[in-house]
Amino acid sequence: MALYREQGVVLRTYKLGETDRIVHLVTTGRGLVRAVAKGVRRPGSRFGGRLEPFSHVDLQLYEGRNLDVVTQAELITSFARVRGDFALSACGSTMVEAADRVAQPAERSTRLVLLLLDGLRALDRIPQHPSATLDAYLLRLASVAGYHPYLDACAGCGATGGHLVFSIAAGGVLCPRCAPPGSRGLDPAVPVLLDALLDGDWRGLDAAAADPRVRRAAAALVNSFLIYHLGGRCGRGELVPR
Ligand SMILES: [Zn+2]
Repeated sequence: MALYREQGVVLRTYKLGETDRIVHLVTTGRGLVRAVAKGVRRPGSRFGGRLEPFSHVDLQLYEGRNLDVVTQAELITSFARVRGDFALSACGSTMVEAADRVAQPAERSTRLVLLLLDGLRALDRIPQHPSATLDAYLLRLASVAGYHPYLDACAGCGATGGHLVFSIAAGGVLCPRCAPPGSRGLDPAVPVLLDALLDGDWRGLDAAAADPRVRRAAAALVNSFLIYHLGGRCGRGELVPR
């Protein structure tokens, strides 16, 4: 059986039998990995505590027929602060659930891992508006998954300009010629925030998302965009405060 090493982020875990745990990870080299961690629920387990959701880990595994088996686990970052806070962990849970849905087995996923780590680090800094951090992650995740939102140019014809009609189905903003008649335009502050969510510095998100009305409008669009293009489970959880 082949041994291999991978770095990745634990997405979720669940119990198997009396003492084992199944772990879902997104790894840089092999994408989604489902592995068994044997004996980790026994007291004194060597690496049980390192395989918690959100943990960034360096693992050694061997290939099994159905599930791979974890033989070593080194913790790189635990993100324990995110796990320990209700609002932060709600956002983090939505992040890893969405990654679990987008990641594919046996597919290099460096961008996805880096994005997830960026999102978790941003939550770990205890942002004032964790929901804006989550929305930034989700919008960037759509882009990584192949659904890059059009924000600078019309999704219909490519005309540049600050367009204010947003079409979920078209995948972004529409110019006045491409927008269906009678379309209602967005508050001009909303596309500015969407731009910051998609491309801005993570540390600047609190300032960009300071206006709660604009933040809620952008969040609703991000949620609809993710549900439409990536499926229902990628939408933000109802527990996440806006
Ligand atoms: Zn157009």
